[in-house]
Parts: sequence; C-alpha cells; structure tokens
Amino acid sequence: MSDKPTILVTGGAGYIGSHVVLALKNSGYEVIVLDNLSYGHREIVKDVLKVELIVGDTCDRPFLDQLFASRNIAAVMHFAAYIAVGESVQQPAKYYHNNVVGTLTLLEAMLSAQVKKFVFSSTCAIYGMPQEIPMTESHPHNPLSPYASSKDMVERILGDLDSAFGLKSVAFRYFNASGADPSGLLGEDHQPETHLIPLALLTALGKRSSLSIFGTDYPTKDGTAVRDYIHVNDLASAHVLGLEYLLAGGESEVFNLGNGNGFTVKEVIETARAVTQRDIPVQESDRRPGDAPILIGSSAKARQILNWNPQFADLSVIVAHAWQWHQRRHG
Ligand code: UDP
Repeated sequence: MSDKPTILVTGGAGYIGSHVVLALKNSGYEVIVLDNLSYGHREIVKDVLKVELIVGDTCDRPFLDQLFASRNIAAVMHFAAYIAVGESVQQPAKYYHNNVVGTLTLLEAMLSAQVKKFVFSSTCAIYGMPQEIPMTESHPHNPLSPYASSKDMVERILGDLDSAFGLKSVAFRYFNASGADPSGLLGEDHQPETHLIPLALLTALGKRSSLSIFGTDYPTKDGTAVRDYIHVNDLASAHVLGLEYLLAGGESEVFNLGNGNGFTVKEVIETARAVTQRDIPVQESDRRPGDAPILIGSSAKARQILNWNPQFADLSVIVAHAWQWHQRRHG
C-alpha cells in the first residue's frame, strides 16, 4: 500500500486520462478510475494500468454519493468528456449534458462529501480565434463550438464554487495533445478518429486510403494551419504537478499547456512520412469550419508556478511514440 492519497480519475480509460493514471501510479498514488466506457477502453485499465476500474457515469448522483461515501478520496481529476468539436455543433445537447451537467453533478457530489480538490481537463478552444500569438491565459474567451463552450462554462462554475464553498481547482487548457507513452502500451484510439497525427499514421498503415489537408490558403509559411503539439506524457506530468500544488494548499489556477512551437499541417505530414518511412497520400480540401489559422500557446505560467518542464518538444519524437502505439494497435 502506498502512503500517498487516493485519487479518483474520471475518464481514466481514455487517451489523456490513461496517461495521467500511469503518471500518478509512477508517483506512488492510489488511483481509482471512474469511466462509463462509452469511449474508454476497459482493457487499458485492467491489463496495462492495472488499477481499480469503477464503471459508472458522472451524471448519476446516487452512484457518486455512494462512491465518495465508501472511499477516502483526496482529489478528483476529471477527464470524462465528449471531445468531438464537429459533433458538438450537430448535437449540442449531448455535449452540454455530459460535459456540463455531468461535471456539475460530480462537483456537487464532491462538495457534499467534503472533497474540495479538482483538476480539470480544459482546452485552448475556449479562446476562439487568436488575438495574439502566443496565447496566454489572459486571452479573451470566445468559444466557437458547443464543445468549447462546455469547457468554458465548467471553468466559470469552478470559479463560483471556489468563491462560495472553497473548492480549489486547477484547470489545464491543452493545445494539441499528441504522442503516446514511449512503452507503446498506451496511446490515442478514438472512434471515430478526427485528429491529424493519428489519421496520418492510420494512412501510413494503409487503414485509410488518403489524408485530407483542411485548407491550403491560410496566411502561414506553406498555407496550412499551424498548431502547437504537446506530448501526452508532458500533459500527464503537468497534471501530477497540478495535483500536488492543490494538495499542498494551492489556490485555484488555470494553466495553458503547450510547447510554444508551431508546426503546419504539411510539416506534420512530412514528419510522419520521415518517421514511418511510408507513403502518406494526401488530398487538399477546403478549410474545416471553425479552424483558426494559427494556435500557439504560452505555457510560461505552468513552467513558473508548477515547475513544469516538458521533455518531448521534438515533433519527430512525438510522432515516433504515436507510431509505436499505432503499429502495435493496428499493425
Ligand atoms: N487536419 C487536417 N486533416 C485532418 C485532420 C486535421 O488537415 O484529417 C488539420 C486541422 O484542420 C487542424 C490541424 O490539422 O489545422 C490539427 O487538427 P486536429 O483535429 O488534430 O486538432 P485541433 O487543432 O482541431 O484540436
């Protein structure tokens, strides 16, 4: 048994959550995963992470009350959310229900059990179109999709619950989460997949016939959109630091998590070709609605306050780790 406290990780069977669970385990924490398995992977929790999995829903208040009453949980890290921006535009109620109502239900259950430390998975999408590059935490909020609005609403709720009840939270606004654990045992496996790096790698594996480039007329060096790709293990290490900051009595904070480097879609595809040594056929398509030309984050605040020191800034390392995972999963 560890002498460190028990942490409840919702969505721990998903992409970012599973990498955070591994980081927590490696730091000696007891971890309970709560996941409804609507998109998460049971076998990852059971066979790879080897931690306790409780199958349940964040919208189910009686279930949550029983969970908090029966376990001594010091803090909650919350990753359970729907993430597809395009789908959120088509089905906004689905997103507001799960991402806002589910989170509020979880927070109310926590408060009623006197659990007052919360690490939240937020997104740079709450900023909308950038007014400055790199974007800092003080950039105005202008969420452009129900997905982004759902995350923004939760951040506001967290502020109000701190004022009223002393709930202390850290919200991390991710730029483009990518890569995989270097072991090759954990990685990104969304159904359906919408993200650039996994789609490029699935195309390299022959699982897809070609990759669409969404927009070639952006005001960037090669006309394709620029993003800030951040390794999922670097996200995970920030979450452990954020948790420890709260456990040490820290005040509520929000932090960007990105590398501060931008890469175009074409540069990502070239990197994927170099890493995989395979052909990746592409098709040039129209811009995807709602996409910003350039998103690059400043993470100076996380580096300064949390002493966060990301290890995998090199895009080819990020893609190589994702490739190991994809070959193992699909090869
Ligand atoms: N993208 C693309 N083709 C795809 C998927 C994504 O050209 O099949 C582009 C997308 O328009 C964006 C970048 O790749 O400029 C990263 O997109 P992703 O969906 O991975 O993350 P997002 O930036 O939307 O969070």
